[in-house]
Amino acid sequence: MGNCNGNGQGDRCPHGAHSPVTVRSRLPPQVICFQSGDIVASGGALTSVDEKLKTQKIIFLIGGPGAGKDIQCERLVAKYGFTHMCMGDLLRVEASFPTSRGRQIRDIMQRGDIVPLDIVMTVLKDALLTKAESACGFLVDGFPREVSQAQEFERMIGHPSLVVVFECSAETMVKRLVIRGQTSHRFDDNEDAIKRRMESYFKTDEPIIEFYNRKKLIRKILAEESPEDVFLKTCAVIDSLE
Ligand code: ADP
Repeated sequence: MGNCNGNGQGDRCPHGAHSPVTVRSRLPPQVICFQSGDIVASGGALTSVDEKLKTQKIIFLIGGPGAGKDIQCERLVAKYGFTHMCMGDLLRVEASFPTSRGRQIRDIMQRGDIVPLDIVMTVLKDALLTKAESACGFLVDGFPREVSQAQEFERMIGHPSLVVVFECSAETMVKRLVIRGQTSHRFDDNEDAIKRRMESYFKTDEPIIEFYNRKKLIRKILAEESPEDVFLKTCAVIDSLE
């Protein structure tokens, strides 16, 4: 896959000048306005923007807490110009709203539990739609976390181009999280929540991998190695697309 570094010259990016972007917030849920003047009622009938989304390259990146998704996403976005959708960040924005829904999400995340399917799907789809026309491929990290999310994504949008799995032992993840915990200001980085997130990951990763294995979309990468090595391997996997 060619680079798409924000200079508008990427050989496979037809969308003109843009810069790599991480989407961390979203517009109000009911109506999303696009620069072209399109108006899309989210959850409504299929529009040209929905269709556009179906033509985008979408790469899922999964791995347990501390597997190194964040650092790799940063580098991949810089190299390929993908639009980065970090599911945890998108949900943390939702959790920051002073509404009962916001408080509900915050409580769930603070416990380290999985946010309900309908919320996750609405948040992700809205975020993807806001960039459907301008993105040069999407990198979605932290999704899916349950087979039901994978199934629902398939129903709403289709299947991803690739699912990259960062394999990492619990021991390595804990070591990394202890270091991250010293500087992290995330409200959900408390000890109990981290433990539950890790348990939940090891419970749900196999069925998700199995789901995508049947579609031949899984690419496993050993994430125990240095960030440089993991990055090189991930790039090789992405470059093999098409
Ligand atoms: P980590 O990789 O350290 O677990 P994330 O930022 O990916 O951190 O996730 C933090 C929290 O956000 C999770 O514990 C969960 O509550 C929520 N979350 C993130 N992604 C999903 C998802 N796909 N489905 C449901 N909940 C999610």
